[in-house]
Amino acid sequence: MPARPPGRLFVLSGPSGVGKGSVMAQLRHRDLPVWVSVSCTTRPPRAGERHGEHYFFVDDDEFVRRIDAGEMLEHARFAGRRYGTPRAAVQEHLDRGVPVLLEIELAGARQVKASMPEAHMVFLAPPSREELERRLIGRGTETPEEIAARLRQAEVELAAEREFDTVIVNDDLPSATARLVDLILGQDPNARS
Ligand code: 5GP
Repeated sequence: MPARPPGRLFVLSGPSGVGKGSVMAQLRHRDLPVWVSVSCTTRPPRAGERHGEHYFFVDDDEFVRRIDAGEMLEHARFAGRRYGTPRAAVQEHLDRGVPVLLEIELAGARQVKASMPEAHMVFLAPPSREELERRLIGRGTETPEEIAARLRQAEVELAAEREFDTVIVNDDLPSATARLVDLILGQDPNARS
């Protein structure tokens, strides 16, 4: 029997507030043959977030220990907090032929692309800058200082759109999710791979 081909790695990135979390929430409710990675972060949980499901919530010392032990596939600071992808679980799923999806910010996405160039990079774009700002403020989960930091970061992230293989504009949540699903299931006619 020939060995099973490795699973494909998909990376979903895009500015904070664009709706990556909402797309991911929709995706989790579908019974798709894709494994969604659970990141580590040093930020505190938001209401309703559970350890091991949305994130592994760890303190700074533990995060640094994991970096030093080589346990992170990528890691970055975002709005004053650390975020990173545990390497082992991603590799195990890919080795078993299971597609894997990461939802991460730009610096981390670039690290993944550098170490795993075969990864398919997907950029979730807002319909406009104004709409992005409106969504970030309307979410009501961040302080004004945190919103300002995220908007500054969003400017940097918007400029990176052209580095990605596929751009999905999130003007409508169900259709943006459907495009990502089609891409993962290999049915997207617009995918450049
Ligand atoms: P939030 O605090 O809103 O959950 O996430 C803030 C940002 O961190 C989002 O842009 C999200 O995509 C990103 N993020 C979440 N997990 C990871 C990760 O493991 N690595 C990196 N580099 N970014 C992440």
